[in-house]
Amino acid sequence: MQQPIPIPGILEVITGPMFSGKSEELIRRLKRARIARQRVACFKPDIDLRYHRSSIASHSSHTHEASTIANVEDLRERLFPQLAEIEVIGIDEVQFLSPAVIPLALELVALGKRVLMAGLDTTFSNEPFGPVPNLMALADKVTKLSAVCMVCGQAAIHTQRLGQSQELVVVGAAGLYEARCRTHFSPFTDEHGSEQLELPAPPLQTPITA
Ligand code: ADP
Ligand code: MG
Repeated sequence: MQQPIPIPGILEVITGPMFSGKSEELIRRLKRARIARQRVACFKPDIDLRYHRSSIASHSSHTHEASTIANVEDLRERLFPQLAEIEVIGIDEVQFLSPAVIPLALELVALGKRVLMAGLDTTFSNEPFGPVPNLMALADKVTKLSAVCMVCGQAAIHTQRLGQSQELVVVGAAGLYEARCRTHFSPFTDEHGSEQLELPAPPLQTPITA
């Protein structure tokens, strides 16, 4: 007898600079999946503690229930025991996860899951950000959003870091970043280049309001 042909899933990446609506779009797709009675699980790295530990949130205050994960291993451990009951998996702020998220995404797709990943494509130094560029290359569908440039109002593809702070990434901190177009973006670089973007360890523990 012929083996049934496995139906592959799909990898969708939602990317762009800060304030471009990545979280909003992820939340919109997850909500629509739930309306279609699909079972959804959503995760975010625990570096992003904006608003709630138990949900993802957009700058416009849309939210969706989510579990925080310490790293990709933690994600795998939480996800796999419940995988049979889940059809759609969403991850926000995926740029903060290690490259191990790439084979995990492909594994989930091979198991027939719809995998939605939202994250920044570039750092404020204009470097590719973590696993996101690779995920974009491997995705079935890439949605690259733009924000509004805070100088001129044109479409913004960059995240501008404001001030001269040498501190490591502070997620969503008010006034620290803004969206800029190509003309008005001036990447902040120092002698360490993008090295300064390595994440603090352990991650920040205090909630930061965006
Ligand atoms: P992201 O996840 O890409 O950072 P969010 O989904 O959290 O974006 O937020 C998008 C919302 O941010 C917009 O709907 C708008 O209300 C708000 N916003 C604030 N500043 C800007 C900006 N410069 N450009 C576009 N939207 C902005
Ligand atoms: Mg977001």
